[in-house]
Amino acid sequence: MPHDTHDDEDHGQAPPSDLALRVKALESLLVDKGLIDPSTLDAIIDTYETRVGPRNGARVVARAWSDLGYLERLRTDATAAIAELGFGGRGGEHMIAVENAPGVHNLVVCTLCSCYPWPVLGLPPAWYKSNAYRSRAVIDPRGVLAEFGVSLPRETEIRVWDSTAEIRYLVVPERPAGTEGWDEAALAELVTRDSMVGAGLALSPRGRVG
Ligand code: FE
Repeated sequence: MPHDTHDDEDHGQAPPSDLALRVKALESLLVDKGLIDPSTLDAIIDTYETRVGPRNGARVVARAWSDLGYLERLRTDATAAIAELGFGGRGGEHMIAVENAPGVHNLVVCTLCSCYPWPVLGLPPAWYKSNAYRSRAVIDPRGVLAEFGVSLPRETEIRVWDSTAEIRYLVVPERPAGTEGWDEAALAELVTRDSMVGAGLALSPRGRVG
């Protein structure tokens, strides 16, 4: 399953998708009728595209890697621990952190729709919302991971977590080897969005996945 088959906007060449056209039509209608203010809409989109995003989650993971006390609080009450760093709100009211470890890998999906921890990861990528990912992540997680370039040892247990409107998950990937003594800011650079969904691993210090 390619990661961004439906991500027309990223390529800038494909015509807008049917969904994008419908959204634009709906937006124009609502603005025309005076039901919404376009500047408010722009502010909301800007918030989730630039201010909120995977960098928030990366800070949480980097703190958990660096501070055992913080990791314990994240395990006990992830919502509160995440709020310590100033992140919370809609889509992050009931957070659970799931930790990867040798022999255990966690993968997050929403089989019903596309529930996603907005305050720490921003907007969900197109593949997360796709039918293919939503159905196959549960049936064949190992196969899905392989398509993301993640090959796990046969004996590694893969735990799949189904997000709901109430509960959202954040994967804490394993801290890469060779990062002893790194500060949080440097560590956060290794934490990718996909690694916090479980569809990837944290980057190695050389920038390679692994
Ligand atoms: Fe959902």
